[in-house]
Amino acid sequence: MSSVAIIGAGAAGYFAAIQLVEQGFTGEIKLYEKSKALAKVKVSGGGRCNVTHACFDPKELTQYYPRGNKEMLGPFHHFQPGDMIGWLADHGVELKVEDDGRMFPTSDSSQTIIDCFESALPAGTLVSKGVKHLAATDNGWQLNFDDGESAVVDRVIVTAGSSPQFSSILKSMGIAMVDAVPSLFTFHIEDDALRALSGLAIEAEVRLKGAEWTTDGPMLLTHWGVSGPAVLKMSAWGARWLAERNYHAEVVINSMPRYHKESLLETLQGIRINAARKLVRNVGPSSVPNRWWQFVIKDNTAIDKMWADVKNVELEEMLAVLLELSLPISGKATFKEEFVTAGGVDLKSVNFKNMESKTHPRMHFAGEVLNIDALTGGFNFQAAWTTAFLAAKGIVES
Ligand SMILES: Cc1cc2nc3c(=O)[nH]c(=O)nc-3n(C[C@H](O)[C@H](O)[C@H](O)COP(=O)(O)OP(=O)(O)OC[C@H]3O[C@@H](n4cnc5c(N)ncnc54)[C@H](O)[C@@H]3O)c2cc1C
Repeated sequence: MSSVAIIGAGAAGYFAAIQLVEQGFTGEIKLYEKSKALAKVKVSGGGRCNVTHACFDPKELTQYYPRGNKEMLGPFHHFQPGDMIGWLADHGVELKVEDDGRMFPTSDSSQTIIDCFESALPAGTLVSKGVKHLAATDNGWQLNFDDGESAVVDRVIVTAGSSPQFSSILKSMGIAMVDAVPSLFTFHIEDDALRALSGLAIEAEVRLKGAEWTTDGPMLLTHWGVSGPAVLKMSAWGARWLAERNYHAEVVINSMPRYHKESLLETLQGIRINAARKLVRNVGPSSVPNRWWQFVIKDNTAIDKMWADVKNVELEEMLAVLLELSLPISGKATFKEEFVTAGGVDLKSVNFKNMESKTHPRMHFAGEVLNIDALTGGFNFQAAWTTAFLAAKGIVES
């Protein structure tokens, strides 16, 4: 009888075990967990579990993955959000879509997903044991557990997430690993005037000075700096770039992303005529909140003038800070709704048809242990579902 050991009962490991059963694997399956199964699923999405995202085109979907975008294209043709939605529906879980495309169980509770997974996994599959060592045998793998016991299996699926301990085990076995750095965090900015805006949201385009990416969407001002989708997306794209700079960089904010320089200049000139007898600090472009306007022009010599008295050079300065306000980042803060790690098993060493290692036969990978991570919105779980599905399929077909 053939046997498979799955190491780590998180989203990827649990789903891989269920997929093995449902795709017809008849051998022995053991799912080893060193602490609590599905712990991250439980706390995910603020306790609601953002299971996936309503994006059904594989090519479009890959654009949400700063790491893994090329490699996940093929896998998404085999198992993508539509398949996960269908699988959950077949198992009695209905999802709902929020305006931004994020999908949650209609119960708004991650427990619904946990209950579903628990009932789909055959009794006796989950074993509470940590794997502390792995060694290749002639035709498979020997696992040594932290209780001193061991087991020999034909294949392993490694789904240990971003565990530094397991990353060291993999590294010591000669598996190519990319060092882990956090992704999906918010930017810490030391600025009392900015802190006073806490709670305000603006539409913005964001970039990092000296880097190539631009992200957009709502940006939230918080008591520690800036957050919101525009910033979280940038933290994912710039995860490694920012880590290399110890999270010290300049974020450049365009708070009027729909305007070109010329059209914004015309808008400001229009305000100078139409609000001539009003104070500059009280009247700004209608598309930015007045508190943000007062913040960006706080150093402009025209701030306490009537609009009629504004000089062209002051107008140019207003334009510059609306389109490119540079603020110093002095650290990062964790985004509590979702937190992932960039880094893990080097994707070049993995066959994405069956998630098998190219260097260590009969060892498969799924989930966050791989150097794949995505923007916030349900994409990280989708990567776990897709890679788990393919690892199981690869094993069944082998
Ligand atoms: C607070 C929070 C909220 C999140 N919310 C969302 C969300 O709403 N939507 C989304 O898409 N993503 C979300 N994420 C990201 C998502 O949770 C991860 O991408 C996903 O859990 C990865 O699944 P995984 O199975 O690969 O790893 P994990 O869920 O980390 O599971 C790995 C498992 O392996 C076990 N393990 C490790 N080492 C060993 C060992 N030696 N032996 C045995 N077991 C071991 C661990 O204990 C763990 O249970 C969130 C993350 C966090 C932290």
